[in-house]
Amino acid sequence: MNQFDPRTVILLCGIMSGLMSLVLFSLKRSYPQSIRGLGDWAGGLLLLFFAGVLAAMRGLLPEILTLSAVTSFYFLGLYWLLYGTEQFLQRPTPVIPWLTVIGILVALHVWFTNGQPSLVGKLIVINVGGILIFGAHAYLVSRFQQKGLGKWLTFGSLISCVGLQILRLVTLFVDPTELDFLGQTFINQFYTVGFSFSVLLFSIGVLLMASEQLRDQLEQLATRDSLTQAFTRRHWNYLSEGEFLRCKRSGRCLAVLALDLDHFKAINDTHGHQMGDTVLKNFVKRVNAHLRHSDHLGRFGGEEFLLMLPDTTLDQALQVADRIRMDLAKTTGSPFCTVSIGVTTSDGRDRSVEAILARADAAMYRAKANGRNRIESA
Ligand code: GH3
Ligand code: MG
Ligand code: MG
Repeated sequence: MNQFDPRTVILLCGIMSGLMSLVLFSLKRSYPQSIRGLGDWAGGLLLLFFAGVLAAMRGLLPEILTLSAVTSFYFLGLYWLLYGTEQFLQRPTPVIPWLTVIGILVALHVWFTNGQPSLVGKLIVINVGGILIFGAHAYLVSRFQQKGLGKWLTFGSLISCVGLQILRLVTLFVDPTELDFLGQTFINQFYTVGFSFSVLLFSIGVLLMASEQLRDQLEQLATRDSLTQAFTRRHWNYLSEGEFLRCKRSGRCLAVLALDLDHFKAINDTHGHQMGDTVLKNFVKRVNAHLRHSDHLGRFGGEEFLLMLPDTTLDQALQVADRIRMDLAKTTGSPFCTVSIGVTTSDGRDRSVEAILARADAAMYRAKANGRNRIESA
C-alpha cells in the first residue's frame, strides 16, 4: 500500500483542522453564549493545524520547529479540545494538573530528541500521551446524557484515536523497523489516515452536539415556562388539541384538572415575592412526582395550572388530584400552601377543548367557594 504519503496526509489533516477551526469560530460568533466550548474547540483545532503544517515541513525547517513545537502544539491542541468539551458540558476540571502532564510529556519528547535520542522513546511518549488525553475525553463524552448522532460521532472518533494509539504501540514491538511517523510503511499510512479521519469526525461530532444543544434550548424556551418549567399556555393548548383528537378517535377517557393555589397572594405579601416563586417551583416539582410521562402540566396564569391526563377515568383522575392535594397540604419547611382542584373528563363528545376547560374551571371555582384545599368534579 504505497498510495498514501504520510507527509501529504499529515499536511491535509492540518489544513482540514484549520478549516474546521474556522467553521467553529464562526459558529461561536453566531450561537448564543449559553452554548459553551465552541471557541475552545476552534482553538484546539487551530493548534492541530499548526502541528500538522509544521510536521509536514519536516526536513525543510529547523528541528526545533518540526519536532518540539509540533509536540507542544499537538498535546496542547488535544487538551484544548478536551477543555472545550468540559466547557460545553459545564463540567470543568482543574487545568494545572493537565498542563503539568503535558509539560512532562513535552520534556520527555525533547529529551528523547536531544538528550538521549531515541525514536522508540518519542513514539511511546506521543502515543501514551495521546491515549491519556483521548481516553479522558472519550470517557467524558460517554457520560453525557444527550441523545443524537453528535455524541456518538464524537465518542466514536475519540475511541478510534485511543485504538489507533494502542495499535501504534503494539506494532512498535511487532515491526520496529520504521519508527519515524513520516516513514512510508503500511503502519504509518494506516495511522495517519485513521487519525485524519478521526479529527474530521470529531469536528463534525462536536458541531452536531452544539447544534443539538441549541435546538434543545430553543425548544425549551418555546415550550416551557421559565420559572417552573411547566409547559407554557401556548404549548399546552397545542398538546391538548392533539390529545383531544386522539380521544375523539379512540373514545378513551381524557381527564383535565384545573389547579389553583389557595390564598397565594397572602404568601407573597407575608414572605415576599421570591418565596412565592419558590413555592410555585416546588409545587410543580411535587405535581410532576405524581405524573406519568404522557401527562401534561401547563402553567396558565400566575398560580393557575392545567393538567391533562390521557387515558384516565374520572375515578383515576380524582385519585391523582387527591394525592397532589394531600402531598401539598402536608408540606413542611416552606410556607404552608394548599391547592383547590377542579376535575373533569371527556370521552371525545365535547365540541372543543375549551368546553372541557370551562368545566374543569367551573369545578375548581366550586372547590374555592366550598372552602378551598379540596377537589370538586364536573
Ligand atoms: P385564591 O385562593 O382565591 O386563589 O386567592 P389567591 O390569593 O391565590 O388568588 P389571587 O388571584 O388573588 O392572587 C394571585 C397572586 O399570585 C397575585 C400575584 O401577585 C401572584 N402571582 C402571580 N404570578 C406570580 C409569580 O410568577 N410569582 C409570584 N411570586 N407571585 C405571582
Ligand atoms: Mg389562587
Ligand atoms: Mg388564581
